[in-house]
Amino acid sequence: MTTAPRIGVLAVQGDVREHLRALEAAGADATTVRRPAELEQVDGLVVPGGESTTMDKLVRAFDLHEPLRARIAAGMPAYGSCAGMIMLADRIADGRADQQTLGGLDITVRRNAFGRQVDSFEEDLHIHAIGGAPLRAVFIRAPWVEECGPGVEVLATVEEGPAAGRVVAVRQGRLLATSFHPEVTGDHRFHELFVQMVRDARAEDSRSGQ
Ligand code: GLN
Repeated sequence: MTTAPRIGVLAVQGDVREHLRALEAAGADATTVRRPAELEQVDGLVVPGGESTTMDKLVRAFDLHEPLRARIAAGMPAYGSCAGMIMLADRIADGRADQQTLGGLDITVRRNAFGRQVDSFEEDLHIHAIGGAPLRAVFIRAPWVEECGPGVEVLATVEEGPAAGRVVAVRQGRLLATSFHPEVTGDHRFHELFVQMVRDARAEDSRSGQ
């Protein structure tokens, strides 16, 4: 049996504990990442929900910005939920003027896209990539994906109401992102999908001798 993949959760701000729990439940060896040396030890990384402007500032203050960009560019699998989706996006709409992202995903995300009246809501989404029953998606001041590059696979869209059709989950190569928070529902299928992406990446890299 192969060992469980070691997956970090970026732990400068946001709902770190919920992701650690969900990753463990999905079969990973989960750990926090606050320092470049800790980043080097992980096979994949989750960027949690929280506040992307704060996370961006802290990532830079902790000297993690460049190491994170470099590892993502070198093919480390990463999954971002909500603020984490914003951090992984190449482009932001309605970001703060000085806000930077780690990038990697060829998407434009719109921050706080669902507006003030519908700050938070829940909806059942049918997501082919995770199969089975619909997934309860919890949106909290969530972004949506406004524009996707050609290499981006849309995994889920809003199904009801005025935002119907808006893209809320995407995958591109080894990067995965959701506007919603699967870490808070106890349904671990998204984390299982990510753990499998990390296992596949590890197998692929060891075959190619990396
Ligand atoms: N609105 C937050 C942001 O812009 C994201 C909210 C969340 O992660 N729940 O970063």
